[in-house]
Amino acid sequence: MSASAPRNLRVDPKRLWDLHMEMAKIGPGVAGGNNRQTLTDDDRLGRDLFRRWCEAAGLTVTVDRMGNMFARRPGRDNSLPPVMAGSHLDTQPTGGRFDGVTGVLAALEAVQTMNDLGVETEHPIEIVNWTNEEGSRFGPPMMGSAVFAGAMSEATAYSTTDGDGETVESALTAIGYQGDVPATARPIHAFFEIHIEQGPFLEEEGKAIGVVTGVQAMRWYKARVLGEARHAGTTPPSARKDALTAAARLVLEIDHITQRRGQDGRATIGCFEAFPGSPNVCPDRVEFTVDMRNPTTDELNAMDREFRGAAERVYASTGCGIEIEETWFSEPVVFNSDCVAAVRKGAADAGHAARDIMSGAGHDAVNVSRVAPAAMIFIPCKDGISHNEAEYASPEAVAAGADVLLAAMLEFAKVAE
Ligand SMILES: [Zn+2]
Repeated sequence: MSASAPRNLRVDPKRLWDLHMEMAKIGPGVAGGNNRQTLTDDDRLGRDLFRRWCEAAGLTVTVDRMGNMFARRPGRDNSLPPVMAGSHLDTQPTGGRFDGVTGVLAALEAVQTMNDLGVETEHPIEIVNWTNEEGSRFGPPMMGSAVFAGAMSEATAYSTTDGDGETVESALTAIGYQGDVPATARPIHAFFEIHIEQGPFLEEEGKAIGVVTGVQAMRWYKARVLGEARHAGTTPPSARKDALTAAARLVLEIDHITQRRGQDGRATIGCFEAFPGSPNVCPDRVEFTVDMRNPTTDELNAMDREFRGAAERVYASTGCGIEIEETWFSEPVVFNSDCVAAVRKGAADAGHAARDIMSGAGHDAVNVSRVAPAAMIFIPCKDGISHNEAEYASPEAVAAGADVLLAAMLEFAKVAE
């Protein structure tokens, strides 16, 4: 017989904070953060430390062929699929101490709290450290969880090279983390990932917990504006077809498309180039990228129509041709409603102020959600700053997230009586 999760269990905030600060000593950055890129010697040291901590907590660590690490706490019935929680220990070259790390260490702290309280669960529990979430050394990001979820083949991942031509496979071997368990999905009862928000909303609204309901849809474009190269000094306005001023109008239209959508608006022009690139030649060609995102495909499609309509208007008023090429589309992800409900309930039971939130970024949980029920917990980080050594989450913020993680894990793992 099993009971529902006991309410109001709390993790040990100091122990959880100390785990963060100990891990941060490995692969320090130059400005107080971390440079612990995937499959480097520092990544190996971080993994070794995590393994020692897990073994000291009585867990059994296995490593799969992608270097994904799973630390297992037995349940009462080990034929049941595990409840899994985790994230990643690798960082950006100028990374922080919390991005990913909190998701792994909070799961470890949740298990240590279960140990302290003598809590036994029906389902086994596993803590996971996914390989190469950041994608800074070997692209694309979220590689370990992608192979696990079948979104990328092991062969493709293995043959990926870094800037020096080293492959993922040889880097895995070099640090001793190419395990022999196949990196393929197996039954998982539920997966939870805590992550810093990497955005401003929770902090602005004074909320401790973001109940992540999904990940927004994204669309990427390449836009090309075509005018006429003319002499800068001799060509009057009436004779110009200036590709750059036409592109600038279109950029402002895209900004309006964003602004009209309030807090849900997202459109970014990250790359912008004018040709031929001479101070005294009116540009005949401008190329730029557009990254548009929205919580729903319908609204993203509406943004697409508005963008193309704006291009027509700019063409009509300037005579500059505009080509729009869509280069990437990613469907929105909706997390499992039972997992999301467990996070919401965990926050309410612990008395932590919460709001629903969509993730603006991709995470390992997105890959896992292809093969198992999954959800995420966001915690606020200072000024929404991440992928930056100044990244900071307070001890209280981290502990609040871990409380909610613990509650959600127990809800699914079922406390044994
Ligand atoms: Zn991350």
